[in-house]
Amino acid sequence: MITEAFASESQANKKFTAFAKKAEEEGFHNIAQMFRAAALSRMVESYAHLGVMDAVKTTQENLNAMIATMEEENSKTYKKYLEDAKKEGNTSVMRAFQSVVEANTAYLDILKKAQEALKSNKDAEQKKCNVCDTCGYVIMGELVDPCSVCGAAVEQFSAVE
Ligand SMILES: [Zn+2]
Repeated sequence: MITEAFASESQANKKFTAFAKKAEEEGFHNIAQMFRAAALSRMVESYAHLGVMDAVKTTQENLNAMIATMEEENSKTYKKYLEDAKKEGNTSVMRAFQSVVEANTAYLDILKKAQEALKSNKDAEQKKCNVCDTCGYVIMGELVDPCSVCGAAVEQFSAVE
């Protein structure tokens, strides 16, 4: 039950954030603010659920869990989604899922380096970090134009502190 509530609140957070972005694009700043407030509220609630679930462990445990999740997404979840989309002949969905797998694969390499550093109780190497707003591809270090996964221009990346 709590896992479902966490999933529901997390999905609502992302959906309302997207609604806010669309409202801003359409020039409705005040309505966008309402969507952002609802999204933030849902995020707070999802964090409360995570606390009840005792799902946040040490950084090493969290990193191991993240890597395992992303590997399973690539080898099972998105593999199945890709097969289903291929059967349906839905090329736009296939491209979206393929982008996730490619972005995950590249990011897994970065995460595994951090995992190695953490084994010696060291932090990951400091680098610039940017995420493609189109496909989610993560670049650690200097930006390369265009995105190697989806071809988006370098201006489509968000810097992460
Ligand atoms: Zn991209």
